[in-house]
Order: sequence, then C-alpha cells, then structure tokens
Amino acid sequence: MKPFVYVALPSRVVFDMPAAQTLPGEIERLGCRRALLLSTPEQAGAVREIGAKLGPVFAGLFSRAAMHTPVNVTEAAVTAARDLDADCIVAIGGGSTIGLAKAIALRTDLPQIAVPTTYAGSEVTPIIGQTEDGRKTTQRSLKVLPEVVIYDVALTLTLPAGLTVTSGMNAIAHAIEALYAQDANPVISLLAERGIAALAGALPMLAHAPQDHTARSEALFGAWACGTCLGAVGMSLHHKLCHVLGGGFDLPHSETHSIVLPHVLAPLLPGPPAVRDILARALRSADPAAALFDIPAGLGAKMALRDIGMPHDGLERAVKETFESSYWMPAPVEAAALRALLDNAWHGRRPVTNTVFAHA
Ligand code: NAD
Repeated sequence: MKPFVYVALPSRVVFDMPAAQTLPGEIERLGCRRALLLSTPEQAGAVREIGAKLGPVFAGLFSRAAMHTPVNVTEAAVTAARDLDADCIVAIGGGSTIGLAKAIALRTDLPQIAVPTTYAGSEVTPIIGQTEDGRKTTQRSLKVLPEVVIYDVALTLTLPAGLTVTSGMNAIAHAIEALYAQDANPVISLLAERGIAALAGALPMLAHAPQDHTARSEALFGAWACGTCLGAVGMSLHHKLCHVLGGGFDLPHSETHSIVLPHVLAPLLPGPPAVRDILARALRSADPAAALFDIPAGLGAKMALRDIGMPHDGLERAVKETFESSYWMPAPVEAAALRALLDNAWHGRRPVTNTVFAHA
C-alpha cells in the first residue's frame, strides 16, 4: 500500500426511508423548528405535498431553484427564509435545488437537509457553483455541505428516462475522475468502483422498468458513492471540460457529462493500468471507454455535442479556455489532442482507446 491521506467529510446519511416521515425527526435532531422547503418550479407540487405532511415544522416553500444557482434567485430565497423565520433549509430535488440550499447556507449558516431526486451527487460535496452576470464561479467550503442527506428512493421513480441515464453518467464521471485524481486514495477508489458498478448495472434495468424500486435503490446508492468521491478528492480534465462547455455555451449539465466522458477516457486509459483494471471490473468490459459510450447510446441518450446546442466554431474557444485556468491533469495534454477529442464528441463518434496523451 502506498502512503495516502484520506479526509472523511461529516454527513449523516439516511438511506431509503420516506422523506415525509423522516424529516420531522431529522429537523428536531438538528435542534430546529421551522424548515423552509426548496424546489424547482417543476417539482413544486410534489414538494408542497411533502410539506403538507410535515405539520408545524413546515414554514413555507420557495420554488424558484434554477440551474447554475443564479445569485439573484439566492438573494430572493434568503429574504424568504428571513421573512418566514426559518431556522433550517430542506432542499428536495436535483443539483439545482441542492445548489440553492448551499448558496443560502453560505450566506446565513442555516443547517441544511438535502433530499436528492437525481444522481448528480451535490448533496455530499462541500462544493458550490454560482452564476452572476453570466459567469459561473466555483468554491469549496464546509459551510455548504448539507448536515443531513435523506435518500428517499420513491422520490426518484418520477425521474424522466433521459435524465435517469445522463444523471447516472454524471455520477459515474465523478467516480472515474476520483480514480486518477492527484489526491486519489484507496478508500475513495473502493467507493468509486462500487458506485460505478451500481450505476452501470442499474441504468439499463431502469430504461426498461423505471419504477423498479430495487434498481432505483441501487442507482441512488451508486449516486451517493460517486458523489462522495467528488466531495473527497480533486477532479481534473473531464470536469474542467464540462465546466467550460456548460458555463460558456449554456449546455445542459448532465447531457454534457454523458457525451464528453468516453472521449476523455479513450486517450487516458492506456496510461494507468490500475485505473483501467478497476473500470474493466466495474463496467464488465475490456474496453471501458467504449462501454461508457455504449451504455448511454444504447439507452437512447444524445451522444453528440452538436445535438445539445454546441456550435462547431466554439470548439477552438473551449480548448483555449480549458488551458486558461490551472487544473491538475492526469497526463500532459496537447491542444491538438484536446481539439480532436472535442471534435469526436461534437460529432458523436464512438471513441477508440488509443495513446494520444503521454503519461507521466
Ligand atoms: P436539476 O437539478 O437541474 O434537475 C433537472 C430537472 O429535473 C429539473 O426540472 C428538476 O425539477 C427535474 N427533476 C429532478 N428530479 C426529478 C424527479 N425525481 N422527478 C421529476 N423531475 C425531476 O439537474 P441535476 O443534473 O441534478 O443538477 C444540475 C446542477 O447541479 C448543475 O447546476 C450542476 O452544476 C450542479 N451540480 C453541483 C454539484 C456540486 O457538487 N456542487 C455536483 C453535481 C451537480
């Protein structure tokens, strides 16, 4: 065993229990009495129903959570929390809703309970991205890590088929980048392998039986494992590329991750054999990059950046911006190789595992 450093983050996880029944006790456990519930406009009806079952601890609902955590929405939510005299926040939804809870906590220090309904994994990370004047900035702070996470499998049964696949691939991307992170460690690598295997097994089942509780439960467990990897170690090339593409060209978050991931892996995988072996086991494939293309493609996901709104003449800018900020890279990456990678992702070509990136 090589020397390593592993830091565990404080988080109480309640798995596969109904949120409406569990929340009053968890709110009381935090020493709180009045919870402000958060949702997107699309999930407001479902979240209001949960609120109605909570009794006196339900202080109100703020239902304007939006992708990329716009600062003006956060300011309105902070005002709502003060007006309602809320002493804690409960986010019920995907990464956008949980992002809003984190942004409120950053400004107010109110404790948070996250009830995730996608596989994005934000609920177990101390990371927050916020958008102001068209610019998305990201920071790490333990202030934004939710104190409690309730995984209510029943709330994920309504996750649309397309988002189920791409959100699952988003989670897998966290775990894969954790395997070759600068601060990778054997504890997180174990969790990464288990999380990838859970999602890779569950996603095809969910495409045929979206209401299957066992498959949903396995996928949500995978999401927790993969999200924990994202929270514990640093990410690299794949997340950097998706940040540049998503933020700079307003591309949808999980679809962008799902499309780009196999193209980043294809030139990286010939390098570190340990990573290749773990992925081969977790994905049950001798060619993990191809498998990461075949899984979403076989389940009907869009596989080309051009199909989710990426302009071809933006690829050059994306390459330039990727090199602008300092980001740890698992291997030296040339601009021409990155441009070729993005071109393949733009066209949606099935990746060929090769040795484009030299390995240190
Ligand atoms: P999302 O939260 O934007 O949700 C997408 C849509 O699906 C919304 O309309 C939402 O209401 C709906 N939805 C979610 N769950 C549903 C369900 N079970 N049933 C029906 N509809 C449902 O999507 P996301 O991919 O979860 O989150 C993306 C955002 O999260 C991005 O802004 C991204 O940057 C952020 N994120 C942050 C971190 C972090 O660690 N800070 C990690 C991952 C993602």
